[in-house]
Formats: sequence, C-alpha cells, structure tokens
Amino acid sequence: PPEASLYPGQTEARLPAARRLGYLPVMAIAPTAPNTLALIGNTPLVRLNGPSAATGCDILAKCEFMNPGGSVKDRAALFIVQDAEEQGLLKPGGVIVEGTAGNTGIGLALVGNAKGYRTIIVMPETQSQEKKDTLRALGAELVLVPAAPYSSSAHFVHTSRRIAEETENAVWANQFDNIANRMAHIRTTAAEIWEQTGGRIHGFTCAVGTGGTLAGVGMGLKAFDEDVVIALSDPHGAALYSYYETGELKAEGSSVAEGIGQGRITANLEGAPVDTQFRISDEEGLEQVHRLLMDEGLCVGLSSGINVAGAIALAEQMGPGHTIVTILCDSGFRYLSTLFNQDWLAAKGLTVPPWLVR
Ligand code: PMP
Repeated sequence: PPEASLYPGQTEARLPAARRLGYLPVMAIAPTAPNTLALIGNTPLVRLNGPSAATGCDILAKCEFMNPGGSVKDRAALFIVQDAEEQGLLKPGGVIVEGTAGNTGIGLALVGNAKGYRTIIVMPETQSQEKKDTLRALGAELVLVPAAPYSSSAHFVHTSRRIAEETENAVWANQFDNIANRMAHIRTTAAEIWEQTGGRIHGFTCAVGTGGTLAGVGMGLKAFDEDVVIALSDPHGAALYSYYETGELKAEGSSVAEGIGQGRITANLEGAPVDTQFRISDEEGLEQVHRLLMDEGLCVGLSSGINVAGAIALAEQMGPGHTIVTILCDSGFRYLSTLFNQDWLAAKGLTVPPWLVR
C-alpha cells in the first residue's frame, strides 16, 4: 500500500487512524458546506504529469468540472445573480433569462433553483444534446434557435435580450458584457490559484468564450504579481488571436469546440492583460483530450484540451522550470454524443481514437 502522507489542510490528528486502514489514501476532508451555492468554486488544482514531463515545467490545471453544475460557468452564474440582487433588479419570484452555449445556462438554472428564480435559457440548436437534456432536466425553460451570426437579430444573445425585455420580473444575465462575470474570476479563481500555488506561478492561459475567465484570472493574478504571463489560447474560427497579434479582429478557419471562440471584444475582455497568444487547432486540443484521458485518467471537454495544448505552448515559450496554470472547463461526459462518438468524429474529419473504433 502507498505510504499515507499529510495533504494540505489535513491535521496530524487524523493521520494515525488513516494509517491503520493501511491502503486507503489519506485525503483532506472538506468541511460541510452550508448550502449548494457554497460548493461553487474552491476547486482543486491537479498537476498534469504528462505535459509537465514533456516540457520540464509544472503544468497545473484547475478542475472546474468539479463545480456543482459541472463547469467553470457556475462561478459567473453565481456572481451575475448576486449582482442583480444587489442592484435590486432581481426580486423574489423573478426570472433569469440568458443566451448561452449551455454551461452558463446550467449554472444559472442551479443558482436560480437554489434561490427561487425561474430560468429561461436561449441556446443555439447546434450545441450538444447532453447540454439540452441537462437544461431541461434542471427545470430551465429551453428556447432553441438556429445558429446565426452575431450581426443577425436572430442570434441567441439578441433573442435572449428580447425575451428578457418582454418577460415580467425578468433580468437578462448578459454574460458577455456583464462584468460581474469576470469579477467572479478576479475574486475567486485568481485568488484561489494564487493561494494554491503559494504564489509560485509564472504563466496562465485559457481560451475565451465571454472572456470572463481569461480577463478575470489575468487581472486577478496581475494584481498579485504583474510578471505573471497571461496567454490567450484561441481556437480556429475565433478572431482574438489576430486581434492580440495585429490589432485587427479577423477569424480564420473553424472549430467544433463548444463554449469558446469569440469574434469581438466583449465588455469582459476590455482591458484584459494579454501578454502573448496562441492559435490552437481542434486536432491539437483533441490530442490533449485523449492524452489526459488515457495517461492521467481525466475526462474533459475540447475547450479544456485546447487550454492544455495552450499551456504546453506557453511552457515551451517560457522554457523549463516554470509553473503554468490552466483551466479544465467542463467534463467530457457532457460530450458523449460528440467528442466520444466515432460517427460524429468521423463526420467532422477528426481523429477517432482506437478505443472508440467499433
Ligand atoms: N469552455 C466551456 C466548455 C465553456 O462553456 C465556456 C463558457 N462559454 C468556456 C470554456 C469559456 O469561458 P469564458 O466564458 O469565461 O470565456
């Protein structure tokens, strides 16, 4: 049996009992949370041993799939709802309306349920079946719209704003341009990363959907240490890589990654302290999804794979000996019908890993 050892936060007093159990790993036991919302955030960091060995850096990832709603967006959902309450916009029995690729809707539905608000979620019909089923299962009212460019009034974001305007006692969460979103990451994600690494962090990278995570963690970490390098990992089909490279918003190619890929500077992105940028292909991200699954036993979605590919690129740029942190945004279980489906992968021209071949 592996030797029992102290985990951070564990008391010496517990250790002897655990040792008597012999082979059971000794874990720090979290205290009882007063309610579900208190379970949002405070996610663990995990060392990604494969990427760390390959680069000579410590590549650490924040396990955001461990939030109650299963994604990084629980944090933004909670802060947006609390902010609307504090502003007096959301009152008991009120309605939360949002346009979302799915994860923000799941977070809002859970926060809404826990606080007594109804949720109406507008989502492009192109998103995964699992997310649609999940939203309905959580009790959200789901409005599916065809995929449309942001410039079209039929775009899911504009549709959600109209529904909010037409619904009594409703607030529009407006995750893209409501900076309560990035505030969640300044106040919680960045502070946690600083605490968990003991301030030994040299770089951070992630992809952008709303930009809340990149801008918020970036601003939060820079407030602790302005030398922390903040890097954008942009999927193909997004315009931000070109924006930070040349000042011009220009998209090239496309991506099947859900929840990321932005074509404009959202309010959350304004002033984001981006020092360097990478463009990551779906194949590069998918390779990391497969490696994390087979080598580390971690099952995550494609935006997480793109983030890890970006972390490796940043580690290679900075050189060995650095600590790089990234985000595991959501679980791969949310994409069983897509990323882990042979037919879907083949139809998209993406690599089918050997264990999925029937
Ligand atoms: N990954 C996934 C799976 C997401 O749903 C989102 C949120 N749209 C992101 C990454 C990006 O997070 P943010 O909105 O903070 O940029």
